[in-house]
Amino acid sequence: MAALSPVEQAWSLRLSDPAQAHDLASSFLTDPAETHRAQSVLAHLAWRNGRYAEALEYAKRAELPQRQQGDDLWLVRTLNSLGMVHLYLGQHPAALELFQEQLALAQAIHDIDGQAGAYSDLGTTLNSYDPQQGLHYYQQALELYHQAGPAHDANRSAVLINLSMIYDTLGDNDRSEALLEEGGKLALATEAWPYYSGYLFYRSRRLQQQRRFDQARTLIQDALSQLVHLPAENCRDLLFALLMLEEAAGNQARALQLAQEMDEGWSTRRENYGDYLEVRARVEAAQGEYAAAYQTQKRLLTYEREQHATESATKLLTIEVLHRNREAQQQAGQATRAAATLQQEVELLKALHEKLERLSSTDDLTGLANRRTFLTRVERWLREQTVLAVAMLDIDHFKGINDLIGHPGGDQVLRTVAALLRQHALPEDLLVRLGGDEFVLVRPHSRPAELAHSMQTFQCALVEQDWQALHPGLQVQISVGVTAIEDSLEAGITLADRLLYRAKQSGRNRIQLKD
Ligand code: GH3
Ligand code: MG
Repeated sequence: MAALSPVEQAWSLRLSDPAQAHDLASSFLTDPAETHRAQSVLAHLAWRNGRYAEALEYAKRAELPQRQQGDDLWLVRTLNSLGMVHLYLGQHPAALELFQEQLALAQAIHDIDGQAGAYSDLGTTLNSYDPQQGLHYYQQALELYHQAGPAHDANRSAVLINLSMIYDTLGDNDRSEALLEEGGKLALATEAWPYYSGYLFYRSRRLQQQRRFDQARTLIQDALSQLVHLPAENCRDLLFALLMLEEAAGNQARALQLAQEMDEGWSTRRENYGDYLEVRARVEAAQGEYAAAYQTQKRLLTYEREQHATESATKLLTIEVLHRNREAQQQAGQATRAAATLQQEVELLKALHEKLERLSSTDDLTGLANRRTFLTRVERWLREQTVLAVAMLDIDHFKGINDLIGHPGGDQVLRTVAALLRQHALPEDLLVRLGGDEFVLVRPHSRPAELAHSMQTFQCALVEQDWQALHPGLQVQISVGVTAIEDSLEAGITLADRLLYRAKQSGRNRIQLKD
């Protein structure tokens, strides 16, 4: 076998030694014969570390030259990074198109990794909308890796772990467990660290759900102390898993300590950063450190803003990429399909696009708007100088409710609260589930005192709701902070948050108003 070129070698090290892959690829950026391939490697590494803007920048620079030069093997890799960035930023329709192109191209050049990878990522794009379809794609990927032999075991481990997640969603626990273990073993044996740390993350979450905290803790701590080659970014993933574990186990002081230890290094790895800040703010509040929690919420808001800006930029890029593809296809004389078929395809894609857009702007569980829609809508209202009142709501002792009636029961409580909130909202109100048991209502053209009044009515409705049907003796109460959003969303939200904390501190089940 011919020796791998240095940039090929960088690509092959991307899972087992990303730092070396990075250095190697970087050193070939200025070599005219290798520039675009080196950019492909760096795009992949940046995506893996959640640095999406950087990944897009590299992929964008590599993509067009690779198209023009017909460097199809590397174009497949670049398209994949582009697709992954879009997927992770919630741009599912664009991700779908990019993976489909990757698949077609990889098939044309008999690139097994490219094909199986495309199937696997199509599976990931579709599985939350249609688990059966996701399953189908993952199985296709697995089949290809099987045929291709042990050289592809690292990638096969990722598909096994993904499949395990789907079977979990579909309720087949035994199969899910078996696949997770098989995937984990394979990932460890091939030193596919991102996948192995993914395995540990899921395994510890499962143990955590079964309240087997000691076992989960040992699993992660052993990995952290024994796996000497584990890349720094994957160590952070494990520390984050530990943080969530200690929070769930009720060791708030230890959780806070971990959160503080983890504070540095996010500039190189952004993935999980938003989740980290969310957990950290919760832990700080639980420890009574309200000033710190407030600062953390502010950081979260800033981060969400940046993410949002990146997302807008990717939307533009998507249009650019699709435009280039059409042009490239036309030049190659491929656009000869009958107009009717083409029209049909466009219609199908449009319908899918609309469905995905709708789903990615709402919260799955309750159907309310999600955080992203919240930011966009409020920013627009502020630009239009609309007077806004905001209520921030958080269910009291929701963890206790989960413990009492189980997680699915807890989900039902969240859905019922959302439905009641809808009944008590005005047509123009924006209703958001921010995450967990936290909701926001933004009312345009209204003062806080008016909104506080509606919130009182809502609290009465919660008292009157027949919770007994869910569990005997169950009662659901909320605490609320109400204020105005004047010139900045950030200031409004942090104030509402602070009021909410005060409502919690002064006994819960109350509304704290600042007009
Ligand atoms: P507090 O009165 O201080 O708000 O106490 P709390 O127990 O409600 O504490 P907190 O609001 O911090 O806890 C929210 C909990 O919600 C933590 C998490 O276990 C749970 N949770 C988060 N997301 C979901 C979900 O989607 N479904 C269910 N059932 N529970 C969730
Ligand atoms: Mg709560």
